[in-house]
Amino acid sequence: MVTSEYERRIAARFAGFDQDGNGYIDREDFMAAAKALLAEFGTAARSDKGQALYVGAEAFWQGMAGIADRDGDQRITREEFVNGAVKRLRDNPDRFAEIARPFLHAALAVAGGDAGAGGGAGVGVDDTARVLRVLGVDGDVAAQAAAQLDADGDGRIDEEEIVSAFARYFTVPE
Ligand code: CA
Ligand code: CA
Repeated sequence: MVTSEYERRIAARFAGFDQDGNGYIDREDFMAAAKALLAEFGTAARSDKGQALYVGAEAFWQGMAGIADRDGDQRITREEFVNGAVKRLRDNPDRFAEIARPFLHAALAVAGGDAGAGGGAGVGVDDTARVLRVLGVDGDVAAQAAAQLDADGDGRIDEEEIVSAFARYFTVPE
C-alpha cells in the first residue's frame, strides 16, 4: 500500500484548509478564505455579514487549533492535521459541526441566503457551488457536491444540510 484512497482524501482535505498552499494551516488561511468569499459575492468586510464571516473564521481557526495544534505554535502541520484533527473529529463529528457552524452560517448569509433563521429559505445550489469553488473545491466537483447537498431536492441548501455535509467530508472514514 503506497498511497491509499484514505491518504489521498486526507491530503485533499488538508489542501482545502491550506488556502495559500504554504504547507501548514494557520489563521491566515481562514482569513484568506473569508476575504475570498466576500470578494466573490461583493460583500464589504465592514458590513454586518462581512464582520460575522470574519468572526466565524476566527472561531473556526481557534476550534481547529484547539483540536490539532499540539505544539501550540499556531500552525497545524499535515502531521498534526492527520493525527489530531482527522482522528478526533472522526470520533466526534458533532464537535466539528460545532466549530465550523458560525463560519458556515456566515458564509451562507454572504452567499445571499437567510440560512438558520428558524429554518429559513437557505441558499441556492448555484450559489453554494460558488462558495465551494472559492474555498478551493474543483469546479465540477463543487457543482456535483452542491447538488448532492440539496438533500431534499428543493433547489435550496439550508444550514443543517451544509454543516452535516462538511462534517461528513472532513471526517471521512478510513
Ligand atoms: Ca497555509
Ligand atoms: Ca503546530
